[in-house]
Amino acid sequence: MEITLKDTAVKLMARHGLNRWLINDQSIPGSCFLCYAPSGRLPVCTPCLRELPLNRDPCPVCALPDCHGQICAECLGAAGPALDVVIAPFRYSYPVDRVIQEMKFHARPGLAGFFALAYHGLAEAGLLVLPEQLIPIPLHRGRLRERGYNQSACLARAFSAATGIPATIHTLQRLRPTIAQSGLKRPQRRRNMRGAFALTANADVRGRHLALIDDVMTTGATLREAARALKRAGASRVDAWVCARPGQE
Ligand SMILES: [Zn+2]
Ligand SMILES: [Zn+2]
Repeated sequence: MEITLKDTAVKLMARHGLNRWLINDQSIPGSCFLCYAPSGRLPVCTPCLRELPLNRDPCPVCALPDCHGQICAECLGAAGPALDVVIAPFRYSYPVDRVIQEMKFHARPGLAGFFALAYHGLAEAGLLVLPEQLIPIPLHRGRLRERGYNQSACLARAFSAATGIPATIHTLQRLRPTIAQSGLKRPQRRRNMRGAFALTANADVRGRHLALIDDVMTTGATLREAARALKRAGASRVDAWVCARPGQE
């Protein structure tokens, strides 16, 4: 019955030219996360997949969108960058932004599978230099209690299943709660994150090539601070694998 109602809703929305995306409030096997149409074994149906905002021609170092595949000004000016290579398959725009918000704030960690599909595709196509371990950006324990799950850990597990690279969830810890980065300007973001991360007691990353996992990279202050903690502990290379990046402000 519910399926019939939703089918009708999809048809009505299509007839009135309304966007069909994200009326699916449950993850039903065999149906598209975005529009509820049948999608076989894929989390997204083919028409939706074709319309998603891919991150085309990004900076090959930091994945900033619209760089004509050239290294961006910020990366050219950076001496000894904390992050070696950033991968971001999507732009942070509609409907990918909505998928990320659903995953993060509306208790739908299963949507991590949507982004794992992109990483599976990139790995299959040989477009990723594969790290030895995937390490999620940790939440502070207060935030974790509030939300009930860490979306970055969900992503790390899903990317691990998609690429065969082990995810080590408890390598990094968040030493203190930080203010939400979204309300801060660029220099404040860096200050806000300074000294926020440390390795856990038994973690050993010496000589390792690692990839940090997070949902969105905006200025990169959080990811760079985490990368610095890993490099101080002896990691040889730290990449970042995220779902999406916004374009230049
Ligand atoms: Zn769809
Ligand atoms: Zn760049």
